[in-house]
Amino acid sequence: MKIELIPLLQDNYAYLLIDGSGTVAVIDPSEAAPVQDLLESRGLTLDMIINTHHHGDHTGGNAALKKAYGCKVYAPEADAYRISTLDSGLKDGDTLNLGQSSAQVFATPGHTNGHICLYFAEDKALFCGDTLFGLGCGRLFEGTPEQMWESLSKIMALPDDTDIYCGHEYTLENGTFCLDIDPDNTDLQQRMADVRSAREQNLPTIPFTLALEKKTSPFLRAGSAERFAEIRCLRDAV
Ligand SMILES: [Zn+2]
Repeated sequence: MKIELIPLLQDNYAYLLIDGSGTVAVIDPSEAAPVQDLLESRGLTLDMIINTHHHGDHTGGNAALKKAYGCKVYAPEADAYRISTLDSGLKDGDTLNLGQSSAQVFATPGHTNGHICLYFAEDKALFCGDTLFGLGCGRLFEGTPEQMWESLSKIMALPDDTDIYCGHEYTLENGTFCLDIDPDNTDLQQRMADVRSAREQNLPTIPFTLALEKKTSPFLRAGSAERFAEIRCLRDAV
């Protein structure tokens, strides 16, 4: 499966997935036009839209893309009442087939109640929307710290060489906060040097591996829901 990043809006990423059989999906299209432009430049059409959660900066392009390509929208079943374009609901434990590729669906409540992540085991790729970010995690708009910690723990249980594809380019901003929390972490210092250099060249910091995230993110290194809640609170106050 081929994965392409599509920068959208201010700092969002959508992802174009092109399966070996020619099936094409887009994850979290905040807007339609740049996705259509990319598809046209590749001579592709769109078969599937997948949303990780209901927020407008992840679903804003659904309607126009659906109209242009007649594709189906797969989104959290729990968000059916607030994603009007939804065709097929996804829930924890489901398998979503994309041509010859397939993804496991995990429920990861915290940022929103219905949030899901998609894990392509064969491709070692996790699409986690606004659950986990580079050196951070999503704000708790709907869930509790305990729920988010449980969701992050599910992600931490995946293989270390999993590539993480998240919904926003927040790594540099998040990392500045992380250095305040964990100033002596040499892995974090090294990562931040790499992140600064990438951003200076306008390059994405995504994907990153789960192994790197586990070594460098105070959110994943919290060790308990209580400590995680403290760090999330401190981050909110920045
Ligand atoms: Zn969101």
